[in-house]
Amino acid sequence: MRFSTRVIHDGPTIDAATGAVSPPIYLSSTFRQKAPNQNQGYVYSRSGNPTRANLEATLAALESGRGALAFGSGLGALTTLLGSLRSGSRIVSVDDLYGGTWRLFEHYRRQFGLRIDYADLSDPTRLAPLLKEKTDLVYLETPTNPLLRLVDLKASVRAAHSLGASVVVDNTFATPALQRPLEFGADVVLHSTTKYLGGHSDVVGGALVLRSLKDLRRFTWLQNAIGAVPGPFDCFLVLRGIRTLGIRMRAHGESAKAVAEVLEGHRKVRRVHYPGLSDHPQHALARRQMDGYGGIVSVDLRGGERSALRFLKGLELFTLAESLGAVESLVDHPASMTHASVPRKEREAHGVTDGLVRLSCGIEDPSDLADDIRAALRRV
Ligand SMILES: *Cc1c(COP(=O)(O)O)cnc(C)c1O
Repeated sequence: MRFSTRVIHDGPTIDAATGAVSPPIYLSSTFRQKAPNQNQGYVYSRSGNPTRANLEATLAALESGRGALAFGSGLGALTTLLGSLRSGSRIVSVDDLYGGTWRLFEHYRRQFGLRIDYADLSDPTRLAPLLKEKTDLVYLETPTNPLLRLVDLKASVRAAHSLGASVVVDNTFATPALQRPLEFGADVVLHSTTKYLGGHSDVVGGALVLRSLKDLRRFTWLQNAIGAVPGPFDCFLVLRGIRTLGIRMRAHGESAKAVAEVLEGHRKVRRVHYPGLSDHPQHALARRQMDGYGGIVSVDLRGGERSALRFLKGLELFTLAESLGAVESLVDHPASMTHASVPRKEREAHGVTDGLVRLSCGIEDPSDLADDIRAALRRV
């Protein structure tokens, strides 16, 4: 079945006990035991909850995983992932990383002696030399945030596995609608379900999806031990969001294409970053490993921060806010907002300049979004 059908029908959709087409939300924190340790599959809602189990089964099916685990946030999922490592473990990671992920990596480096090397892994020659030193995890984002660089999943997985390293892919930007890293052999997929999976800016959540039963068991133990779990109502909201993921990702892609085409070649624009543009340096790779190009477009405006701020002011349909991936269009100035915690020199070396603006294109009519961009460019 195609993806838009699977998001509706994958996972347990109809309540077995009542036939309810929209399964109930089980708010109960605990479950009756007939005798000590004799239960009906649930004991205590940190360890397991039926609404959470529905979400987890759906995520596992859509990402082609052996199982999935839901968390209270994307960073809650990452904390649990890091909880599986020993002190002194080594991670090789992309350098153009979500700011909160970088902050948590650095915390673990300082507090627990984790060793981390960051590199621009969109350059396929960079990974192999880094793996010569013993590596536990290769941590990838593709497309990266906010520069929309791509990492070759198949080649990275092959290189990492040949030297015994596991591969984790943060699939928040692409979602399983556009890219399924486990099908390329990756071991773990991480999500901030706050973004496209939830899709309506009304819930914070995260997930890990595992390719092997061994990892599923290991991370299920950690999920319960660490306890960064989501509440049942939040699980319901993410599940409800997922049911429209197929149609939303198509609409986000159409919006982003319209926006990127207005920006491309405009005299006030230094550079547009969007994998769907034929002059994106990795457009061919995007066609190979993705089923679409997503809803995020970044633009580097000539004239630095002054231009960026005028552009932001000129936008009416794009709301200035952190986060991304919801039905409404949002805009972010990475240098002063989402990436402010990254030191200026490091930031600029990666291409996150003061003139860079990140657009999360919503599912409004693409022509209206294109008009809004044209009007804002006139104000620059
Ligand atoms: C938002 C985000 C995270 C963190 O998720 P939270 O739900 O905010 O904790 C991680 N990775 C990416 C790519 C994100 O966009």
